[in-house]
Formats: sequence, C-alpha cells, structure tokens
Amino acid sequence: MELHNKQKPIVYNTIQLYLTERYAHMTESHKVALEKGYVPGYKLVRGAYMEKERNRAEKEGYQSPVQVNKQATDDAYNGALQYCVEHIETLAICAGSHNEHSCMYLSRTDAQRRLAV
Ligand SMILES: Cc1cc2nc3c(=O)[nH]c(=O)nc-3n(C[C@H](O)[C@H](O)[C@H](O)COP(=O)(O)OP(=O)(O)OC[C@H]3O[C@@H](n4cnc5c(N)ncnc54)[C@H](O)[C@@H]3O)c2cc1C
Repeated sequence: MELHNKQKPIVYNTIQLYLTERYAHMTESHKVALEKGYVPGYKLVRGAYMEKERNRAEKEGYQSPVQVNKQATDDAYNGALQYCVEHIETLAICAGSHNEHSCMYLSRTDAQRRLAV
C-alpha cells in the first residue's frame, strides 16, 4: 500500500475481525498511513477459517486467536465498519459481508456513495 496507494487506493489488505487483534492492527496501520502519506484500503471480513484457526492453535499449544463468541466478532466487525466510515476521507474499504445488520448500517450511512459494498 505504501508503494502503490499514494494517490488513490489500489492495494487493499484483508482484515479478519474474528481475530482478536485485527481491529487494533487496522487502526494502527491507518495511523502509519497518515504519517507516511498514502491511502490505506481495507477489505473487512469476519473470517472464513475459524475452525482451522482454533484447531491449529490447540494442536500447536498457543491460545486461540479467534474471538470468544459470535457477538465478540460482530462487535469487532461493526466497530471496524464504524471506524472506517468515520475516517472515510483518509482510507477506503470493501465490506465482504452478507450480514444484514452490517450491510444495512453501510447502506444507511452518509458515506455510502464512497464505499465499495
Ligand atoms: C467479497 C467477499 C470477500 C471475502 N474475502 C475473505 C477473505 O479474504 N478471507 C476470509 O477469511 N474470508 C473472506 N470472506 C468470507 C467472509 O469472512 C465470510 O463471508 C464471513 O465470515 C461470513 O460472515 P458475514 O459477515 O457474512 O456474517 P455472519 O454470517 O453474520 O457471520 C458469520 C461469521 O461470524 C464468525 N463467527 C461465527 N460463529 C462464531 C463464534 N462462535 N466465535 C467467533 N466468531 C464466530 C465467523 O467469522 C463466521 O464466518 C469474504 C466474503 C466476501 C463476501
């Protein structure tokens, strides 16, 4: 993104919000982009490999990186959506979700004309 997103968002990074540290990772990377002067792109997803993540953590003996339950994932996802909408002048998003609440939230926001949903 630092190389290609100087004028507009071309490269998007996927943010899997079922992982506990990804919301913080996204907001931190946004701060870095502001400092360095490029437009970060985020593809926001809840995440498709929950069982694999949990199984691997158990097998390899580290704490599961997945949120404790569906509500925690929903809170992280919707919080990330809200953060991006509130900062839409300095970042870009693609929302990879079929969730009705999340999609309705985006379709009703004033920023929706600038979003790829
Ligand atoms: C355009 C597009 C691109 C995508 N790209 C990617 C990608 O690059 N990488 C990727 O991983 N996925 C990707 N996905 C898949 C996406 O992550 C799944 O569609 C998504 O997980 C299903 O969630 P949802 O937002 O549609 O809503 P919902 O159906 O409301 O959410 C289901 C999701 O919630 C989470 N969840 C469910 N139960 C629990 C629980 N007990 N604890 C914690 N979390 C739970 C899981 O992530 C589950 O998939 C993409 C989807 C789309 C539409």
